[in-house]
Amino acid sequence: MNETHPISIAIDGPSGAGKSTLARLATTLRFLYVDTGAIYRTIAYYAYANHLDPADEAAVLAALPNIRIELCHDAEGLQRMILNGEDVTDAIRLPQISQYASVVSAYPGVRAFLLEMQRDFARKGSVIMDGRDIGTVVLPDADVKVYLTASVETRAKRRFLELQEKGEPTDLAKIAADIEDRDYRDMHRDISPLRQAEDATLVDSSNMTIEQVVERILELCR
Ligand code: C5P
Repeated sequence: MNETHPISIAIDGPSGAGKSTLARLATTLRFLYVDTGAIYRTIAYYAYANHLDPADEAAVLAALPNIRIELCHDAEGLQRMILNGEDVTDAIRLPQISQYASVVSAYPGVRAFLLEMQRDFARKGSVIMDGRDIGTVVLPDADVKVYLTASVETRAKRRFLELQEKGEPTDLAKIAADIEDRDYRDMHRDISPLRQAEDATLVDSSNMTIEQVVERILELCR
């Protein structure tokens, strides 16, 4: 790949489709990996920690000036989220935060607040950016666009195994219901709904290993 101008790879799709495994691809390519879901989760975490009702749009918007988000990468290239000086990387993964994030991310004011921050990463260097509206709204001129998806069953099972590994009590049916809920909200909101960009390539990872997904995306980059 030509490194004279920054290259951007936009990966969109629903949660659990394997977008986060792309951190590995970013390391191989020496690109910065930007997980934009984590940024929305950080706003959601602020609302949660400050006892704001996520459904109260005015309250969430009024809080935005108090929110300072920094994103840094550790030695392994993994993204860490810093909210007003506090590392919230682990806290934002709580299941309540997933639901809060999908509610607050539907507010135009929240999306506008984060838009330039996301574009800035791509201006500064080559990136793999994952989210819901990267190929459609954030980086419409991305060099490579992928819509990465998988069946609800596959995604729920992956999440189930992940939680089991961490020793957290889980219920497969509840996980699947939460995923369907979030998919519905993300795909049906008025602003920046989750959808495949016209020029994006569809990759269905239901029956693929992480290595196969990485190889397929590398192929598209070539
Ligand atoms: O990717 P992840 O599941 O961590 O994202 C959490 C939530 O943030 C999503 O359900 C979605 O509502 C929101 N999001 C978004 N736009 C993005 C990335 C995430 O609306 N680019």
